Amino acid sequence: MLGSLPSFARLVSELGKLPGIGGKTATRLAFSLLRRPQEEVEALATALIEMKRNLSFCSRCFNLSESELCSVCSDSGRDETRVCVVQEPQDLMAIERSHGYKGCYHVLHGALSPLDGIGPEDLKIPQLLTRLKQEPVEEVVVATSFTVEGEATALYLARILKQAGIKVTRPAHGIPMGSDLEYIDSATVQLAIDSRREL
Ligand SMILES: [Zn+2]
Repeated sequence: MLGSLPSFARLVSELGKLPGIGGKTATRLAFSLLRRPQEEVEALATALIEMKRNLSFCSRCFNLSESELCSVCSDSGRDETRVCVVQEPQDLMAIERSHGYKGCYHVLHGALSPLDGIGPEDLKIPQLLTRLKQEPVEEVVVATSFTVEGEATALYLARILKQAGIKVTRPAHGIPMGSDLEYIDSATVQLAIDSRREL
């Protein structure tokens, strides 16, 4: 049936590529879009294109940004002696929502995973090491996920950073980072950061 409706079939196919959206949901979304006013659908299409065109990564910490430096890095009130290392921009957003952390960040864009062939060079680890040589960092808070990969990344960073004389801490267990961020309450995030321990 969709073969005779190529535009509709194409939309269903594109929507179906999004995470968590199967064929049935994609079809339902396409029907829902079809019923909406023209200007609403055009606003959605424009938002998609502009998001992709404007969003890039901060040249210093690799957070999402629409300019050279992200909002955290351009904030002169942040404590530059502390850098919190996270896997993804979403993790940074969860910590920012808790309002309990006033240091800077570094987003790795993944975690070490030898089985998948992901080594330090595939993440923003070389950039982190360069930053640490240039900036007055005293403590690195490794807030990678509490998964096998996240723990391996934390241990790897602890080993090389301690050699460089930098204090390395890790938040207490209890932050399910990287997924289901909307379900994490800010108090839990803040408590985990506050009760971090030295690695
Ligand atoms: Zn930044």
